[in-house]
Amino acid sequence: MRDLENTRACRLLSHALGPFDPVTARHDPRLMRAATFYIDVLSFAHTHPDRDDIQLAWARYANQAARTYYTVANPTRHHIADMYARVCTRQGLTFDAAITRRRELTAYTTYGPAEDIPHAWRELAVALHADGQCAEAHSQIQEAFTYWKHTDVPAQPTGGQLLSTYAGILAGCGDTDAAHTLLRDHTYLVAVPGTDQRATAAFITAVQIAVAEREHPPVCTLLPQREPPPEADRWQGWQAVLLPSRS
Ligand SMILES: [Zn+2]
Repeated sequence: MRDLENTRACRLLSHALGPFDPVTARHDPRLMRAATFYIDVLSFAHTHPDRDDIQLAWARYANQAARTYYTVANPTRHHIADMYARVCTRQGLTFDAAITRRRELTAYTTYGPAEDIPHAWRELAVALHADGQCAEAHSQIQEAFTYWKHTDVPAQPTGGQLLSTYAGILAGCGDTDAAHTLLRDHTYLVAVPGTDQRATAAFITAVQIAVAEREHPPVCTLLPQREPPPEADRWQGWQAVLLPSRS
């Protein structure tokens, strides 16, 4: 039923946007909203022909239109920029995603809200790492983590997310020892808000790091000759670091 509804939504939005060319369409908030919905529903339309091209064209339109139409601090502009960066990342346009994430961080740093800066900074580091700008990614995630420690932004989820991203970037580039040290020094950040489910949080973090460790090497510019690690059971090693009593 959900597939049917999604297919119907795709058809309706395709029909609504049919008269418009995303390259030349006017910068109109209703068009931007329709484009955003269309991109969202297309994400679930796995067999839709030309899905990637359509999503990218409308994401480019919405991002450009939002940058013209809305002020730099407008939440809708931020939402559209985030959507555009995610579309770019999914389609391998990691350089474009990194440019957008950097622009977003500058916007949050200049106009606030300040509590969103650590998250935006983390997104920039992730985008740089995915683009193979590894030295810059290390520098940015380190600065983001240090910045967060001097703010009142809650440890959960922000501090925990920064920690797992930081460890994933280090591990992905082959610096396993530094990742271990970082995690051992900050195990208190691995938690599920409002619960004592440390084991669950450690499992999620361990899997995230193991995925980065497995998927990053092909684009890594620090250790381009490094052989990918074996796929099986890598997360268990990271979990043991986060839950030393179980190892
Ligand atoms: Zn790397």
